[in-house]
Amino acid sequence: AEPGAELQVALVPSYACQRHTPLLHHNTVLTDALSILAENAELTDNEGRGVAFRRAAALLKSLPHEIRGMEQLKGLPCLGDHCLRVIKEVLEDGTCSEVETTRQSGQFTALKALTGIFGVGAKTADRWFREGIHTPSDLQRSGHTLNRAQQAGLQYYDDLNRPVTKAEADAIGRIVERAVSEVLPGAEITLIGGFRRGKNTGHDVDFLITHPDEGKEEGLMVKVVSWLEAQDFLLYQKTTRNSYLESKDGPARPPSNMDRFERCFSIFRLSTHNGVRMTETDPHSHFSVHPHDSHPTPQTCRTVDVLSREDSSEIGQPQSSHSQSWRAVRVDLVVSPYSQFSFALLGWTGSKLFERELRRWAVHEKAMTLSSHTLYDSKQRQYLRANSEEEIFALLGLEYVPPCGRNA
Ligand code: ATP
Ligand code: MN
Ligand code: MN
Repeated sequence: AEPGAELQVALVPSYACQRHTPLLHHNTVLTDALSILAENAELTDNEGRGVAFRRAAALLKSLPHEIRGMEQLKGLPCLGDHCLRVIKEVLEDGTCSEVETTRQSGQFTALKALTGIFGVGAKTADRWFREGIHTPSDLQRSGHTLNRAQQAGLQYYDDLNRPVTKAEADAIGRIVERAVSEVLPGAEITLIGGFRRGKNTGHDVDFLITHPDEGKEEGLMVKVVSWLEAQDFLLYQKTTRNSYLESKDGPARPPSNMDRFERCFSIFRLSTHNGVRMTETDPHSHFSVHPHDSHPTPQTCRTVDVLSREDSSEIGQPQSSHSQSWRAVRVDLVVSPYSQFSFALLGWTGSKLFERELRRWAVHEKAMTLSSHTLYDSKQRQYLRANSEEEIFALLGLEYVPPCGRNA
């Protein structure tokens, strides 16, 4: 090993929120292997193991070099015995038998295919698997009663399992922006989730909506959804109203990491021909840059950019003869009051592991409780205010990590 290498690794901090984790990194062979095991653990009700594999993978993603031998792992955090065994095998043989066995197992393949149906979680998939249902077609034939989400999930299965491109995300952004500005002028929309972290594709598109006049945003989601439905943009939607305020004097709720914003899980009908022309005719289409969100980075897309005509035509390419003129796209919309915007932005930008690590850091290292609404300091017994993500990191005693570094 190079002199000083050990000293360097000894300084790698153990929480993912203390590190920068870029989208592209040097250890994909190892992290792909660990991700399979994480996924399998999550699908078989082993959340703890899943998190352990995810943390190990995230650690490797944050390293500035490729791992070629076990000696380079000395002193690194997050790597338990099981992970080390997997890494050793991959380094020595190119593959790990446990990973390959898992990848090819009927159970793993079936559970992945079934949870690939929108509206189907690990528990339901497992139940169906044990009834002999292994594929979406099996499910279709089974005559099971499905809820609305699952019916839509089956109906649009192929589209929803095809990655959403950035161009498609931008086209959706223009539609949502139009809807929002029609029903509440001055409202601001921000692209969140994976696309804000700089990903080129996603399994869905996520947006956060707010309005600078606190209170104006109340009831906004219902209006936005009505507008979208009237324009025939929605194939499916389930809107949940804000349960935050009412719960304060209402009956006590169990503590939960789930936030309580007005939100909408939806499936958009994105036109691949004239949908583009439709949005092009709106000369005022723009996305307001939220004043709180003030540290752009090159790999980061804070807001949805307006596409030029040339860019837009990308998604309006001539279709092959058997393809249809539209595709289904999963879209998540969240509305937050202005005062909670920074917490919502931080909480919905992800990645899921990064969020989990932020909350774990807050509780265990700072005796604070972080949610997508607030930060509570248990020692001072008060809520801490913040007007930007940078301020939240500072309150947590963490160095700021921009969205592109949160790909843990
Ligand atoms: P992908 O590109 O696959 O969509 P993603 O990072 O955008 O990746 P999402 O599942 O869209 O993944 O989640 C985006 C963010 O929203 C994550 O940080 C996640 O923690 C948060 N999130 C998702 N669902 C909920 C929910 N029900 N309640 C609170 N936060 C959620
Ligand atoms: Mn997403
Ligand atoms: Mn989402």
